[in-house]
Amino acid sequence: MYIGHYGVAFAMKKKFNQIPLWLMFISVQLADFLAFIFILLWIEKIHSVENPNPFYRVVIDYLPYSHSLFSTFIFSLIIFLVFWKIKNKTWGLVLWAWVLSHWFLDLPFQKSNLPIFFDSYQVGFWLWDYISLSFITELVFVSITWYFLYHNNPKIKNMVILILILLTSWFFTFVTFIKDPENIENSSNAKIIILLIAYTIFTIISYFSERKEKINL
Ligand SMILES: [Zn+2]
Repeated sequence: MYIGHYGVAFAMKKKFNQIPLWLMFISVQLADFLAFIFILLWIEKIHSVENPNPFYRVVIDYLPYSHSLFSTFIFSLIIFLVFWKIKNKTWGLVLWAWVLSHWFLDLPFQKSNLPIFFDSYQVGFWLWDYISLSFITELVFVSITWYFLYHNNPKIKNMVILILILLTSWFFTFVTFIKDPENIENSSNAKIIILLIAYTIFTIISYFSERKEKINL
């Protein structure tokens, strides 16, 4: 799953309005951020192939640390303990759930290569076999959670969030349907860097989408 993860942040944001959106954006995508970094550091491995299905042009070889259920749980636990300590238990629990949500949302889409314990017991429900259905599912999930659960939140600037939704949707359409230029097609690292930059930009925009609390002097 790509941008659909942000739907989890939109779905719960109003209920936990004190937690900033940018922090939620990092939490729900923490597994991918870690994967990008680990791949660029040669700790984890993917490779690119020719495939008529755009979702299978990147093949997972080895993602035991960023994308196994066990390690996702460990990372989410660390996040829980850190935010319980520096903020409170609610922050810890909410961020724990958001970090963990990544694995469970990747599960239906991946073919059987999402590991449970490090590199072992790989699972997945193959939704990416159905290109249009997978594409629409992600877009609809983000749009519904944004519009019905987050739109018109007094803390947000609606226009900035609208730009964010349009930008994420355009990017997702681009990565799904536009054929990669030759040089990118051959370089999985180039794809990883593009995704890393895109997710970072989305996070920065989410930071500017929220009104800062007024400080009374
Ligand atoms: Zn992922």
